[in-house]
Amino acid sequence: MTKAVRAKAKFSGYKIPTRKFEVPSDVNGNPLRVSEYFGENVFDYTKSEILTKQDKKEINEVLAKKGVLTRDLAEKFANAVLNWATSKGTTHFTHWFQPLTGSTAEKHDAFLSIEDGRPIEKLSASQLIQGEPDASSFPHGGSRSTFEARGYTSWDFTSPVFLKCHENGKTLCIPTAFVSYHGDALDIKTPLLRSITQLSNAATKFVNLTNGQKREADKAEFVDVTCGCEQEYFLVDKALYFERPDLVMGGRTLFGAVTSRNQQLEDHYFGTVPERVMAYMQEVEVELYRLGIPAKTRHNEVAPGQFEIAPIFSKANVAADQNQVMMAILQSVAPKHGFMCLVHEKPFAGINGSGKHLNWSMSDSLGSNLLEPTDTPHTNYRFLAVVAMICEAVNRHGASLRTAIASHGNDHRLGANEAPPSIISIFLGDTLTAILEAYAAGETYTDDNEGFLDLGADQLARLVKDNTDRNRTSPFAFTGNKFEFRAVGSAANVGIPLTVLNGAVADVFNDMNVRIEKELGEGKDINTILTTLIKDLYNNAKKVVFNGDGYSQEWEKEAEQRGLPNLRTSADALKVISDEQANTFLTDLGIYTKSELTTRFNVRVERYVKHREIEFRTLINMVNKDILPAAINYKNFLAKSINEQKTAGVEAKTDREILAMINSTTDNLRAKTVELEQGLNGLEGAEDLNAAEKIAKVLMPVSEDIAESVAVLEENVSEELWPLPTYYDMLFIR
Ligand code: ADP
Ligand code: MG
Repeated sequence: MTKAVRAKAKFSGYKIPTRKFEVPSDVNGNPLRVSEYFGENVFDYTKSEILTKQDKKEINEVLAKKGVLTRDLAEKFANAVLNWATSKGTTHFTHWFQPLTGSTAEKHDAFLSIEDGRPIEKLSASQLIQGEPDASSFPHGGSRSTFEARGYTSWDFTSPVFLKCHENGKTLCIPTAFVSYHGDALDIKTPLLRSITQLSNAATKFVNLTNGQKREADKAEFVDVTCGCEQEYFLVDKALYFERPDLVMGGRTLFGAVTSRNQQLEDHYFGTVPERVMAYMQEVEVELYRLGIPAKTRHNEVAPGQFEIAPIFSKANVAADQNQVMMAILQSVAPKHGFMCLVHEKPFAGINGSGKHLNWSMSDSLGSNLLEPTDTPHTNYRFLAVVAMICEAVNRHGASLRTAIASHGNDHRLGANEAPPSIISIFLGDTLTAILEAYAAGETYTDDNEGFLDLGADQLARLVKDNTDRNRTSPFAFTGNKFEFRAVGSAANVGIPLTVLNGAVADVFNDMNVRIEKELGEGKDINTILTTLIKDLYNNAKKVVFNGDGYSQEWEKEAEQRGLPNLRTSADALKVISDEQANTFLTDLGIYTKSELTTRFNVRVERYVKHREIEFRTLINMVNKDILPAAINYKNFLAKSINEQKTAGVEAKTDREILAMINSTTDNLRAKTVELEQGLNGLEGAEDLNAAEKIAKVLMPVSEDIAESVAVLEENVSEELWPLPTYYDMLFIR
């Protein structure tokens, strides 16, 4: 930002015109309802004019897992997709996949083909089903050598094919899994799909064991894992963004003085959305609707410049794909409005970071949500058993759940005084806890005490919800009829936490199914079986239940006494992936193979190291090229001024004081920067766990010292000389 722009911004009202975009409308220019264009950029085979009734029936069976995809059917499907896409002006297609980078990847091919010297558009079944991108440039954590660099993408037909629209054309995106030549999953989607299958199988068995239905036709056929992701993000003016190399290189400011007014007035949360931001949100939503992503809520978040968007929940694998698309759309629409969208967990020090609340539940094919408490939760044994099993899952696999959300960005949130801590505990709310405590003590819960009287329809759901809204500090909270994994980072690919969560819960379901089946065989009554199960599980797992303030120091101490793991940094957390025993549940369930876990351990450690190195190098660079010169300039200015004033016979006390302070801060800054650079060079390019630990424990604190010195300078060096946009510029100009 030039000084002129900033001055204008501050004193004459900085107004970038809001962008008008084409609201979807009919041929007469009348606006369309959302329901009229919802999903228009997603292929819907039921609407295809090329597919016959019989074709559609067969496709339906494949999707319902009752039939297999034959070559012939795939050929027809591909043809229908091609016809649809090209009629909308699409020229290219791509296998869209999610490598271990955590984001998405695509390589485009044109439909154009030359046959007998004539141009035609073509998409064959094999092009639809299988691709072979050069895998050598994707992270593989040593899982293959360069000479076997082949990787395959394979069509996930449960996730819809969609169009990506660019300014001058469209691309057909085919969601795929990405595997190595040897069949190892090199992506995030494949293990997620496996985990969904495992949990679905285990939960279906549980439902059928417990609901007493004897007739096959009355039994549940499957259980869907459901998920809705609340996405938080920041918007920064595009001009300012490019003036901050740290934002460009790493997505977060590496330093900055907190403004006098940030979020202490708590008036941004749910406040009126600024006009330019609203114009942006509306364009984002139209794009999402076209892609069949049901964006539902939008609002300001706690920090200035921070916002949230949440869709209506869907099946977990679809939700995971859609969240990736949503982040991409948030980021691609922003520049059109003169913004850049930051999905990093901690773009600004000292104010709230961004998370991604992952709402999660299970819903059976008979239409019931396994986490629905109903009007009488205290006698809803199946519901209570499911909650108790989830408590046990977190009790058994809390460390793995923590690992699943570890990233360099999320390290700034977890445990910082504003986000769910790195200790994984469960919040159940007072009512549910009281019920489970009663069962655990072998008592029956009577609902005639302490205001839980007369639980009318949905009363409990509301009660529990109200309780949870008062507790934002829990990393994993029961919120009415679902759990909400709140410790997930805003930039995360939710596929990873979903996979581990599904696996952890499936593990407990499987154990309990064996027990229930045995006891049913012994002629025990299902309610008796479930009440003892609830009692045993809850007693065993209750140490992970915590309804208090998760941000408090007392909780950290208490958690330690309870023996709960507290894995503070990514370096601590990622170590768990290399712990074979901690991951047996995942390998036993076939969600990851051992070698896939090794791959993930290597890749994630390496990425942690790389991200930090980029940050450190950027920080050193900015200090040397921007901050130190500004400080030195100011010192010169002061020194001159002091000398001149001395000549003029004045003492210049203030100038001297400021000079001394700037001088010592600058010296400290310089010393720490040299220390960081030496430490970084001392790593000698290593990207292993040792390097990660050194970074987390030694170099991060040095970089934080640097950030502190820079903030002091920012607050004291003349604004005329300060070379970078400040938090004021970035958070309050819009
Ligand atoms: P809050 O901000 O109070 O947590 P929101 O309404 O912003 O609530 O978000 C809640 C999210 O949870 C939405 O995406 C919603 O669709 C999702 N959700 C609701 N019910 C379920 C469920 N049964 N399974 C998974 N997600 C759900
Ligand atoms: Mg929420």
